[in-house]
Amino acid sequence: MRKKIVAANWKMNLNLEEGKTLVDGILGNLPMLTKQKQVVIAPSFVHLSQTVVQLDEYEHIYLGAQNCATEASGAFTGEVAASILASVGVQYIIIGHSERREYFKESNEALVKKINQALANNLQVIFCCGEPLVIRDANEQNTYVGKQIEAALFHLSNEQMKNVVIAYEPIWAIGTGRTASTEQAQEMHAHIRRVIVNKFGEAVGANISILYGGSCNDKNAIELFACEDVDGGLIGGAALKVDAFLAIINAMMFA
Ligand code: PEP
Repeated sequence: MRKKIVAANWKMNLNLEEGKTLVDGILGNLPMLTKQKQVVIAPSFVHLSQTVVQLDEYEHIYLGAQNCATEASGAFTGEVAASILASVGVQYIIIGHSERREYFKESNEALVKKINQALANNLQVIFCCGEPLVIRDANEQNTYVGKQIEAALFHLSNEQMKNVVIAYEPIWAIGTGRTASTEQAQEMHAHIRRVIVNKFGEAVGANISILYGGSCNDKNAIELFACEDVDGGLIGGAALKVDAFLAIINAMMFA
């Protein structure tokens, strides 16, 4: 059975104290998570050592990072290697977020290296894909997203794919307040699953978790998570508020 996951992407928000307060608030009212219904918190690197201590006594809520280096170690000032993240207690890494592709010019080659580094260090990858508005308007989103997946994931083995989660994030819906309709989300998630089945087979396709991201919030999460191929969400803005994030977690619990 595939896992349902709600993952928080804090991006470049919250100082250390604000991060601590947010995590305390979430933990204070966290529902009973299970192996099949998990939460991931991905704060900035600076928060990781603090957040891992806060999460220590709780089950099925994991520490995530928002990025990792392409290389294993060495003279790469300002970069953080997957092995260093793993040593702090990180279990998930978000790779291929559209903001990193766009603002930091991350190429498919760089994403492949990062994914390889993450998997080599026993970390779970949350691989992000999604189309910009011009592609959606031209109705070419399926081909576009299929190519992103092919470029970044098709070199992996079926065994490695067990440690990959996909997040579909239509770029036109990220941080814009605009959300994909449930029909658009379901259609794309089913397409992504077909792409995975065609390459890796039925079992991998049936078991891979595909999260929706893009202005998912406490108002629309129930509807989005009710879609057959939507296995939870990658949440930006709404993950910065205790009540909204808890409501999204609860939407997953009842999905
Ligand atoms: C994101 O960028 O991962 C995201 C989903 O952001 P938001 O929820 O703010 O649209």
